[in-house]
Amino acid sequence: MKTTPIYGWPYPDSADHTRTWEYWQSLALAIEPTVKANANSIAALTAKVPFAMAAGKVAIADRNPDQGGSVVVTYPAGRFTQAPVITVGTASVNSYAPAGTDGSTSTTSFIAKCYNPTTIAATGLVVHWTAVQMTSSSGPGRAEPAAETGPTVNATCHTAGCSNAGTAIPIADNPDVERVVCGVCSQTITDLAA
Ligand SMILES: [Zn+2]
Repeated sequence: MKTTPIYGWPYPDSADHTRTWEYWQSLALAIEPTVKANANSIAALTAKVPFAMAAGKVAIADRNPDQGGSVVVTYPAGRFTQAPVITVGTASVNSYAPAGTDGSTSTTSFIAKCYNPTTIAATGLVVHWTAVQMTSSSGPGRAEPAAETGPTVNATCHTAGCSNAGTAIPIADNPDVERVVCGVCSQTITDLAA
């Protein structure tokens, strides 16, 4: 009998030709504990990590004092099966601008928002975002979910090589939004079809 170099699983070679089922038995008995140990390791790991995640950065146009801005961000197509928890924070070159969201209950997009509460124009605004669905059945994006009944349009990214390219993603048709951004390639989406 020889054994494989990594797990030491037994297998017959030319000198072992007088046996048959014993080889299968010894190999099966060697494989089973290895598979079991790996399954336990994977189960322990997946208990600690989210079911699905996405993250990105989205630039917001400069904002005058007491003015807010918002941009629609599409998630990677098919990433979420439940509305994820969205966490945002804003970076600015010269100011302090709090970030927020629309509390989206969508599995396909959310609206990133920021506001300039200072007395000078805020420039270089970028909202950093993380969307997390912890398990296959949970990840509510809002403490008290409400149906989103407003009008929607389909946003389609056309960036070459982007995994979202060509996929129409429904988003809220919000007139306050300055633009729509692909959450995968960060490019502005101009293909907005009703
Ligand atoms: Zn894209």
